[in-house]
Amino acid sequence: MNLDTLFGAEIMARCDALALHTEEPGRLTRTYLTPVQRAAAEQLLDWMREAGMSARMDAAGNVVGRYEGAQPEAKTLITGSHFDTVVNAGKYDGNYGVIAPIACVKALHAQGLRLPHAIEVVGFAEEEGVRFKTTMMGSKAIAGTYDPAVLNLKDRGGVSVAQAMRDYSLDPQAIATAAHDPARVLGFVEIHIEQGPVLLNEGLAAGTVTSIAGVYRFQAVLTGQAGHAGTTPMHLRRDAGAAAAEMVLAIERYCAAESARIEGGLVGTVGQLNVPGGAINVIPGACEFSIDLRSGHDGSRHAAWKVLEPELQAIARRRHVELSITNTLDLAAAPCAAHIMAQIDTAITAATGAPAPRLPSGAGHDAMAMAALCPQGMIFIRCGNGGISHNPLETITEADARIGARVLYDVLRNFRAQ
Ligand SMILES: [Zn+2]
Repeated sequence: MNLDTLFGAEIMARCDALALHTEEPGRLTRTYLTPVQRAAAEQLLDWMREAGMSARMDAAGNVVGRYEGAQPEAKTLITGSHFDTVVNAGKYDGNYGVIAPIACVKALHAQGLRLPHAIEVVGFAEEEGVRFKTTMMGSKAIAGTYDPAVLNLKDRGGVSVAQAMRDYSLDPQAIATAAHDPARVLGFVEIHIEQGPVLLNEGLAAGTVTSIAGVYRFQAVLTGQAGHAGTTPMHLRRDAGAAAAEMVLAIERYCAAESARIEGGLVGTVGQLNVPGGAINVIPGACEFSIDLRSGHDGSRHAAWKVLEPELQAIARRRHVELSITNTLDLAAAPCAAHIMAQIDTAITAATGAPAPRLPSGAGHDAMAMAALCPQGMIFIRCGNGGISHNPLETITEADARIGARVLYDVLRNFRAQ
C-alpha cells in the first residue's frame, strides 16, 4: 500500500465525492437528518467497512466505525469530525476530519497492525446548527451531555428534532444509547481545517490547537434622543448611533491591543448594528448592537470584559445616552489536554521537519463537546485562499491533506493516555 497516495490523492478524491451529496444543485449544503445526509452516511459507512472497521449508525445519526485493538478489552481512542455542513459550504470543513481518519485506519488494516487500544472513527451528524439552531447535537449525544429538551426544537418547516429522527428511522427515546462510557475512552483527537489564515501566513502545514475559545455574547441597547437632523445643534444631541460607533471602535481597539499580550488571545466583533426605525433626516434615538468576545483562556475573557464594560458605560455617560447590556451566551473554553498536545507536536515535527506551531481555535468544534467525556486534542491543517471557510472557496492542498493524515496516523498509532 502506498501511504502517500492513500493520504493524499485518495483523501482529496473522497472529499470531492462526499461533496456530491448535497441538498442544492451546484453548491454544497448538507443538514441534519435529511435524505442527503443519509446518503452521505451510507457512503462513510461503506468506506469504514472497506478500511477494516465494523460500522454502524448510532441513535443520533452519527456514523461510528470501530477498529478493535490487539486485546478485545482494550480501551478506545476516538477520532473524527462532523459531516453536516453550513449552507453553501466548502468541501473540507468537518468532512476532511472524517475522511482522513478512515484513511489512517485503512493504512493500519492493510498492514495487519493492531494497536494496544481500539480506534473509533466518528462522523458527527450535527455540528453546525443550521437546521435546528442548536449546535453539536452529534458530539453531545456521544459525550453524554445531550439535552432532551432539544428534541422539541423545530426547523423552519415546523418539523421537530424528534419527528425528523423518526422520519430518519431513529428512535428519539434511544438517544442516551449513543453516549460513551468515559471509563472506556482514552481520549478524543480531532483533525480539522484551520478555517483561518494563521498557518497560511506563517507558511506552516499543520499546527497544534491549545484550546477551543470560550465565547461571550452580548446584546447592547443604547437609548438617546431622536431629533431633527437639520435643527438640533451638534452640542445638544444625544445620538445613540454615534455613541454605538464609538463603542464599536473601542471594542476593536481594546481587542487589537490585548490580543497578542493576553493568555489565550482575544478577539472581539460587533456583527450586528441596527438603528431601529432609523431615517436619513433623524438623529438616532436608539441603537442596538451585538458583541462577540472570544479567548482561549476564560480568565482572560472575563478580565477583558471587566475592563471593556465600564469603558462602554463611560462612553455612554459622556454622550448622555443610556446603555443596557444583556449577556446571551457565556460558553467556557475547552483547553486541550497537555499530553495530547505534546503527542501532536511530536507528530507534526516528524511529518514536517519543523517545530509545531501552537494556536488557539477561535471557532467551536466537536472537540469542545467531547471535552466533557475525555481528554481532547486537535490538529489544524492549513487552508488556502486566505484561510476562507464556510464558503465554496474553502480549499486545502493535496500535500497538506497528506501531512495532516500522516500527523493523525502517528498520533493514533503511538497514543499514550498520559
Ligand atoms: Zn467544522
